[in-house]
Amino acid sequence: MALDSFRRFAESEIRPALEAYEDSFVPREEMQSLVRQLQPFGVINGPVAEEDGGFGLDMVTYGLLFEELARASADLAVVALLQMECSKLLAGVPGDLTRPYLRSIAECEKFGSIGISEPDVGSNIAEIRTRARRDGDHFVVNGEKQWISNGHYSDFNICVAQVENDREKEGLALLLVDREHGYTSRNIPKMILNSQSTAQLFFSDVRVPAANLLTAPGKGLGKMLGLLDAGRPLVGLMAVAVAQAALDDSIEYARNRKQHGKYIAEHQLIQAMIAEMATEIDAARLLCYRALDRVEKGLGSAVESSKAKLFATDMALRAVNKAMEIHGGNGLTTEFRVEKLYRLARIFPITEGTSEMQKLIMARDLLGVSAF
Ligand SMILES: Cc1cc2nc3c(=O)[nH]c(=O)nc-3n(C[C@H](O)[C@H](O)[C@H](O)COP(=O)(O)OP(=O)(O)OC[C@H]3O[C@@H](n4cnc5c(N)ncnc54)[C@H](O)[C@@H]3O)c2cc1C
Repeated sequence: MALDSFRRFAESEIRPALEAYEDSFVPREEMQSLVRQLQPFGVINGPVAEEDGGFGLDMVTYGLLFEELARASADLAVVALLQMECSKLLAGVPGDLTRPYLRSIAECEKFGSIGISEPDVGSNIAEIRTRARRDGDHFVVNGEKQWISNGHYSDFNICVAQVENDREKEGLALLLVDREHGYTSRNIPKMILNSQSTAQLFFSDVRVPAANLLTAPGKGLGKMLGLLDAGRPLVGLMAVAVAQAALDDSIEYARNRKQHGKYIAEHQLIQAMIAEMATEIDAARLLCYRALDRVEKGLGSAVESSKAKLFATDMALRAVNKAMEIHGGNGLTTEFRVEKLYRLARIFPITEGTSEMQKLIMARDLLGVSAF
């Protein structure tokens, strides 16, 4: 019932609201209002415990809601994913530091962001260069983060930084950096997903209280990688949502377009494409939910999450390609949705770890040797 009512809401309210922006940037106040409307459905911070302002949803239920949101708007799904991931990271930190931030996400006041990637650091995340130098009861942060979702309107960044003192590097840690501490941002234009923000963040002698350290030095990367185990199948579900939309549009088009005296839906080669798309979408969806189930049960999911992301995101590329073929020349025009889906599908093999990295993660586990 919850899913049905969310689907109706997302289709009637969220999809038209975002479509009206035609892939242009949604101003912060409008984005906040949309997030407020989504919050009661549990799609913003659902998996966080109730005492931390969430709904205590299991990850599979969250995935079902998230897939619906992604079908209505991939831009808003990215915003929701980041709010959820920030909440999860903050909820696990003992003490009172993170309470106001958790509350501000639950009350849709603040936007969070996560800073791993840098101009020279993408797949090689162990080589992060952003520095947090100890200076009395503060850190002085210097560096640059790249591709940061929610970044331009973020109120805080959970930043992966190398902690160092006068003598040595202590290790990578997570640091909670508030916008008020002084980081700046620049929005990055992309081929799609421009209604939300992907940004560069600049840290230039940003002074952050030492109390804002969220993990011990040396523990930051492990904590972040654990989070990605849940993030990857969710990105996979975004790809599934795109592929499903491509299939839905293809079925509709094939039933209405006539060539050689009959609807193209009646041609066997078109039928083959539809059947292949449907089969692959189902397989990808099941891989994603299996990975989320393992995350929820704490069964260890790095390999299953990588399989789900790799298959779902590659599958979406195949699906939009077939949808484009089925639409013929009309697929190339901006007047049909399939053109947008084609561009959208290209994003997912890159975010939260590229397809190549997913293969290397799996092969490391299977072979017992690391190639990176
Ligand atoms: C829309 C979007 C949103 C994002 N949001 C965030 C965010 O919120 N926070 C954040 O921190 N980051 C974010 N990212 C960054 C994303 O995680 C990185 O883009 C991704 O990890 C790849 O890094 P890169 O772009 O630097 O590519 P690179 O690492 O430079 O890779 C380039 C190519 O080389 C390949 N390659 C690299 N190393 C190897 C290897 N060892 N073996 C074989 N092939 C290899 C890659 O697979 C790829 O094909 C986002 C990116 C996008 C596009």
